[in-house]
Amino acid sequence: MSALSKGKKILVTGGAGYLGSHTILELIEHTGYEIVSVDNFSNSSPSAFDRIERISGKRISNHAIDLSDEAAVKRFFAGEKDIIGIIHFAALKSVPDSVANPQLYYHNNNGSLRNILGNMPAAGAKYCIFSSSCSVYGNISKLPVSEHTPIGRAESPYAETKQQGEKMLEQFAERNRGMKVISLRYFNPVGAHPSGLLGESPLNPPTNLAPLITGTAAGRYREFVIHGHDYNTRDGTCVRDYIHVSDIAYAHVKALNFLIENEKAPDYDVFNLGTGKGVTVLEAVKAFEKASGIKLNYRMGPRRKGDVEAIYSDCSKARTVLGWSPKYDIEDMMGSAWKWELNCGDKVRP
Ligand code: NAD
Repeated sequence: MSALSKGKKILVTGGAGYLGSHTILELIEHTGYEIVSVDNFSNSSPSAFDRIERISGKRISNHAIDLSDEAAVKRFFAGEKDIIGIIHFAALKSVPDSVANPQLYYHNNNGSLRNILGNMPAAGAKYCIFSSSCSVYGNISKLPVSEHTPIGRAESPYAETKQQGEKMLEQFAERNRGMKVISLRYFNPVGAHPSGLLGESPLNPPTNLAPLITGTAAGRYREFVIHGHDYNTRDGTCVRDYIHVSDIAYAHVKALNFLIENEKAPDYDVFNLGTGKGVTVLEAVKAFEKASGIKLNYRMGPRRKGDVEAIYSDCSKARTVLGWSPKYDIEDMMGSAWKWELNCGDKVRP
């Protein structure tokens, strides 16, 4: 444990979720901070903390409050002392669901962030890392996408909440001296912890690739539908920049350390987190089949509202400034997702 971390806490919101739980493991492994989580289990289960304990030997305390509830958040900060930094994952994240229920997304995602920022200065927390998304770039024509790529029109209310969240954070850092904030724009996180003991297990029906693929292979879903095969890409299916969840999780450790150890860090900064490689949905399916040895039952379906055609990152800024680079490739991602499905999939799903 470093002297810097002794007796200090990091708040991880959404700690029972997919990215939050993997990040907690990386924080335990690489830092000495005490970790406290806030998660209302709207898309996760308390069993995530059992899994974290099984892998790391550490029990994480969680407050099951709704972060969009202003009074509850105020009470939480009044009761938890010594929080120096916040990693804010908690949000609703389904693009199609946000198209169907935009108000829910504005309320939950923007409201939660507003409540956290409203309490941060008085609580003495100086550092904040925000889960943003490559969806802030919209439907771009010039690839790869770097942090200099202009922010485009949001293709969904979900993407809009990320754009608005970033704006709120930038203004917050500008107006509150001494506060340091990083927005991490994730591309497409997939895979599971290499142990196979922790992975993606959403309560709400998944709309993203890996749980749908592994769930189909396991027989939970009848078939996997590829949404759109007439895009202007090499095989007609969408191009994405898939990145292993543990690589993303470790980037949070690097970003947090960068802010804490670097007095000259800008008050507000953004970083892309991807591998820099575009992979089509069909190629991802093939990678799954190779990694698992299973023939997937899939079919081509119509395009899905809110999806962009192709996007992949230039992630050289994170490499240069944070000293972070991804370790895993698409087969590792699919192989670990399948290992998780085989080990634990059925036990954690409702
Ligand atoms: P997740 O749903 O697995 O985790 C989010 C967690 O936040 C869940 O456990 C949920 O119960 C909790 N939560 C949601 N609203 C809450 C509220 N109001 N109060 C308390 N807890 C609340 O999602 P994830 O995949 O881990 O994503 C984490 C973050 O990363 C989100 O902000 C998401 O938008 C962002 N992100 C995710 C992806 C992805 O593909 N997974 C891509 C880009 C960005």
